[in-house]
Amino acid sequence: MTNYKWHTIPINEIQTMFQVDKEKGLSSKSAEKLLQEYGANQLEQGEVISPLTIFLNQFKDFMVLVLLVATLISGLLGEYTDAITIIAIVIINAILGFIQEYRAERSLQALKEMTAPNAKVVRDGKLTIIPALEVVPGDIVYLETGDRVPADVRLFESHDLYIEESVLTGESVPVNKIIDTITYENIPLGDQKNMAFMGTLITRGVGYGIVVATGMNTEMGKIADLIQTTEEMETPLQRKLDQLGKILVILSIALTVLVVVTGIWHGHNAYDMFLAGVSLAVAAIPEGLPAIVTVALALGVQRMIKRNAIVRKLPSVETLGCSTVICSDKTGTLTQNKMTVTNLWIGGKEINVSGRGYEPKGNFYIGSKEINPGRVASIAKLLEVGVLCNNANLIEAEEEKGFFKKNKKSWMVQGDPTEGALIVLGAKGNYNKKSLEKNWKRIKEFPFDSSRKMMSTIVQKQNKQMVAVKGAPDVLLEHCTSIIWDEKIVPLTPVFKKYVKKAIEKMANQALRNLGFAYKEIKNGKIVTEREAERDLIFIGIAGMIDPPREEVKEAIQKCKRAGIKTVMITGDHQITAMAIAKQLQILPPNGLTVNGQDLYNMSNNEFMQKVDDIYVYARVSPEHKLRIVKALQAKDHVVAMTGDGVNDAPAIKAADIGISMGITGTDVSKEASSLVLSDDNFATIVAAIEEGRGIYENIRKFIRYLLASNVGEILTMFLAMLAGLPLPLVPIQILWVNLVTDGLPAMALGIDPVEEDIMNRPPRDSKEGIFARGLGWKIISRGIVIGLVTLGVFIITLNNEPNNLVKAQTMAFTTLVLAQLIHVFDCRSDISVFHRNFFENKYLILAVFSSLLLLIGVIYIDQLQPIFRTVELNAFDWLLTIFAGSIPTFAFGIRTLLTTRKKINKLVSDS
Ligand code: ATP
Repeated sequence: MTNYKWHTIPINEIQTMFQVDKEKGLSSKSAEKLLQEYGANQLEQGEVISPLTIFLNQFKDFMVLVLLVATLISGLLGEYTDAITIIAIVIINAILGFIQEYRAERSLQALKEMTAPNAKVVRDGKLTIIPALEVVPGDIVYLETGDRVPADVRLFESHDLYIEESVLTGESVPVNKIIDTITYENIPLGDQKNMAFMGTLITRGVGYGIVVATGMNTEMGKIADLIQTTEEMETPLQRKLDQLGKILVILSIALTVLVVVTGIWHGHNAYDMFLAGVSLAVAAIPEGLPAIVTVALALGVQRMIKRNAIVRKLPSVETLGCSTVICSDKTGTLTQNKMTVTNLWIGGKEINVSGRGYEPKGNFYIGSKEINPGRVASIAKLLEVGVLCNNANLIEAEEEKGFFKKNKKSWMVQGDPTEGALIVLGAKGNYNKKSLEKNWKRIKEFPFDSSRKMMSTIVQKQNKQMVAVKGAPDVLLEHCTSIIWDEKIVPLTPVFKKYVKKAIEKMANQALRNLGFAYKEIKNGKIVTEREAERDLIFIGIAGMIDPPREEVKEAIQKCKRAGIKTVMITGDHQITAMAIAKQLQILPPNGLTVNGQDLYNMSNNEFMQKVDDIYVYARVSPEHKLRIVKALQAKDHVVAMTGDGVNDAPAIKAADIGISMGITGTDVSKEASSLVLSDDNFATIVAAIEEGRGIYENIRKFIRYLLASNVGEILTMFLAMLAGLPLPLVPIQILWVNLVTDGLPAMALGIDPVEEDIMNRPPRDSKEGIFARGLGWKIISRGIVIGLVTLGVFIITLNNEPNNLVKAQTMAFTTLVLAQLIHVFDCRSDISVFHRNFFENKYLILAVFSSLLLLIGVIYIDQLQPIFRTVELNAFDWLLTIFAGSIPTFAFGIRTLLTTRKKINKLVSDS
């Protein structure tokens, strides 16, 4: 069907071609068949790295190649056991490396799949959300502001629908879409105004259409190669580590050469020294570092997913831990977004509405007297306008209650909860959407947008037309010239305006979100523009709705305070409502400032910069203000996390250090711009993600510390021995063994170490700090040196005691080195000392250390392995000596820290 000129074919013909009904859509069965026939709706992927390539890449490392050549030589020289063992170790190493990298690759792929876009389609007569991948030709799709068009679509309904098609046409001005058939065949895409193309962006309005092409058959598919974009998936730390890795390679090779040269100079056999040198280089080069970092990041990201935070851009994981300010939307993020209208104010009358949640049951009261809203024209008008200027639906659906519990029916809102609350309000007064819409046909809609803060529809009953408007009451008031007062329409004088404003403030003070309603009848002539529709209106009244704060948010905000992170509320809602909620949530400190959009507009940049640190609440702002707020905070050296859900939020989300979008209510555009998606729209999830982000970074530091300190220890042992003219303290196979077993497993376990309890009681990390900041460099060098010294010490002592037993001395040195590292790994878990963490908390680490120990014992005691690893049995005294020596690097520093802390405490006590 690729050759059809879809824009020239009338919609009913297209319906027949695809055998689909506009109202009902496809059945799920036929959609399934079509999916098999046409394949997934996706553009062909770029090259995917195959598992075999990942495996072979493990051998690409220069030093590994040198080692293999050296092994070949030793094989040729008849050292078969050596050669076979080294090859076995290299292969096991490659397998471990492969597992790490493959896992990392898979997690990244899974991440991409999780953040893939959805599409809204009509199937089996119902509007459903499905992954965009599953859209098939013939599907009826619903398009609304903020969506990306999931496939090529021939439109048959368009309400003020504007689509930005620059990805295809280069034209950035959005095109106003129509539904009429176009007769010209050969016209450019930009002129095919009754079509919506895959990948283009709805900037305004709503519409419906039939999918005519999917995947590579779409216009986008034809140019797919040109637009393949890759998300940045390498973090700054990974880049820094790559650079560091290169320096370490050079350093390790230089040191190894030094060791080899010194050894030969002292009379060692050149071949032995060469093999030892190459093994040392293989061991010393932290080739596994980038892979472990990726695994740590990927596993951390998976933990975040469990806590409802989906990371779209890997670098943000690191930035999360540096955030100093979270700017959060109010509605839905800090609050539950479960609205219920509780108060009405109409022409000076206050009306209370009873009922809970979305259940359409409740009564209307003036004071304690129950009233019938249908009998009071002004109330009836407000309910009617609320329902007619509305895109939400109320449905009664089964709530899944788990395996044993019976499913319960409950009322739910499809669409915007604010609008849902009005449908419920209408139903309580017997103004049901379905029956109202039977009489009043909608002929036009000017959709809600958070800059305009209003929405209107034009509806028609026989030959009578009406504009129904709702919006932020203070804004709406400026569009009205009359008001209903005492059931009469009277001019809206300044006095009446004052009454309305007082009513707004009263509701806002009770933390109620308020919405105003207005209308006008159209006598003659068609209204085509928004401006014409939304002027000279008659103000009806205000509805106040509760939107309770989310329960977990208060604690999350306190957590942020302890973590040195400021929480800022940014909302389109009324200033007083915002302040009331901010106070409930303890966001606003006593001297904290609140500003509204108008204040912000009037403030000079200088003035704003001076105040920005003291502002905690921004109310009645438009999405455009968000960008200014982000920039001002960044200019003050803040690392800013900013939430958003609408199309207009995208620039601010992009500009923020961490752009956060809403998984449930967010538009595709905001999700694409963001680096973190909250699958539950919840503020507390941001805080959980920050906690994980901090933890991941600390874990990366932990294993960098472990691996590098171990390497320093290994190199130093060999170097000092050669310098002192001693025999080789470790044979090549022992060095490779240490590299594989002792370094590998525990380092991986450190990468998934549980987050430290007090991690959210520390200030944010400085985003500019280097890898070795906060004493890490010193720790690596000092521990490494001591590990080297104790290993060499034990070697010398044993050699002195038994001068003719080199194998024993080497076994002792080997054991000491392994034990020192296995004990040191527990030290790496804390920035303070080994005594500051619960020893048994990380069961993977215990398992890794335990299996390394078992392997060590195996290598020492299994008869067949002894000749391969050049070991001999050790007695109880030997073990005592090696355990004692191996404990020194960790415990000496641990005890020193304890003593100095105690001294500091004593001094504090005596000072006070
Ligand atoms: P947030 O706190 O996430 O910024 P918000 O809902 O408070 O969200 P907006 O969505 O910009 O902010 O809404 C601003 C005002 O516009 C609301 O206080 C309300 O008076 C009005 N409003 C909200 N939704 C609608 C709607 N669907 N139709 C008409 N007016 C609306």
